Amino acid sequence: MNNQSQRTTLTNRRFCDHRARLVLLLLIGGLSACKEKPHIGVPPRVGEQSGPSVRVLLLKGAAACTVGLGSSFDVWVETASATRGDQKKHFEEIDGEIEIELSGETISIGDKAFEGDEIWIKPDSAAVFSLGGYEYRGMLRLVVNEDGNSFDVINDIDAESYLAGVVGAEMPDYWEGEALKAQAIAARTYCLYIKQRFGTGRHWDVSKTQAHQVYRGVGGESAPIRSAVNHTRGKVLVCDQGKDGEAIFPAYYSSACGGHTENSENVFGDSFAPLVGVECPYCVDVARPRYYFWPTVRLDCEEVNERLLSNYPGLKQLGKITDITASEQTDYGTYQRLTRIKLQGSTGKSDSLRAEDLRLTIDRSGRILKSTICEISKSDGQWVFRFGRGFGHGVGMCQCGAQAMARQGKTAEQILEYYYPSSRIAEAY
Ligand SMILES: [Zn+2]
Repeated sequence: MNNQSQRTTLTNRRFCDHRARLVLLLLIGGLSACKEKPHIGVPPRVGEQSGPSVRVLLLKGAAACTVGLGSSFDVWVETASATRGDQKKHFEEIDGEIEIELSGETISIGDKAFEGDEIWIKPDSAAVFSLGGYEYRGMLRLVVNEDGNSFDVINDIDAESYLAGVVGAEMPDYWEGEALKAQAIAARTYCLYIKQRFGTGRHWDVSKTQAHQVYRGVGGESAPIRSAVNHTRGKVLVCDQGKDGEAIFPAYYSSACGGHTENSENVFGDSFAPLVGVECPYCVDVARPRYYFWPTVRLDCEEVNERLLSNYPGLKQLGKITDITASEQTDYGTYQRLTRIKLQGSTGKSDSLRAEDLRLTIDRSGRILKSTICEISKSDGQWVFRFGRGFGHGVGMCQCGAQAMARQGKTAEQILEYYYPSSRIAEAY
């Protein structure tokens, strides 16, 4: 499975209908307890109250960075074989920022130097650290890359604290409590699935961007968000997976499906029973009109060519792309979601791409070309995307739809049951 394509889409706070803002008055207790705890293959919890550890990639391939640490903290070094206790150092309270730099085989933190593959920075328990304008809980880990010239910065944090920073970034905190709870369960399921599926082969589990789930750290937290996470603590979605029994699956979600969600198989190429398209008459009531029906987008042909060829070098054999047409699409009646695109080249050769991959290659933000429900044509040296509808990949829970359902009095369980049919809620920890 192509990990880059496992995108979820950020719900922008401006995206929702402010007129319909409702104040959360009361959160009714937790979701009903499950009778059985199936084996779902998640790692054992490391914290007493907070779930398994999640390793979030904050910064990739850096040679230097600046970290704000308004407290005393410890730094220690680990190598592939052992912890280098001799390098453990305690930093007394530092008021402000500290520079971290890799030079040769040494990482300098402030005026102290460390050698090793991994450097851990642990602030005092209640403290947070800041990086790139965001504040985070947990620990910070610097891992030197194999090239020896750069390091990755990873936030090691318990799952529940991580989720507070995700739910608050993925959904406005003034949305209905049941929508926030549904979001928390979907995000928890997705995170644990990615950790389990991809985390063992790399030194991090999830990135902090919409390539996985948007994570804003402490900035995403607020009372309604913490409440939604706490009330669903440890709860995940599972489905029957044949000989493997019940297991978690990648519970994708996106902003507004545009009227119908899509089979995951057509977008990401993976197939799980709950990830099938369902009609969604809900998001139209919540999504802003210009997101639900997005305006015509025009992109320069040369630029589109360049972006496609730099991302897919194999397409060079096509020469210039002379035609972009739908080769596969899902028909919803009055509109269609493009799922596979044929690219015709000036050399006479052609190739094809998943429509979602094409969209996110030619618009990396995913915010201009908002979905693959559109029609593509060519005019005056530009590709024209018209009759756009919906925001995001459209697989799994429709976030605006979840909000609309919650407004109608539906519970988080009912929302999840609707968007992930044949799944059920289980306790991971
Ligand atoms: Zn929808």
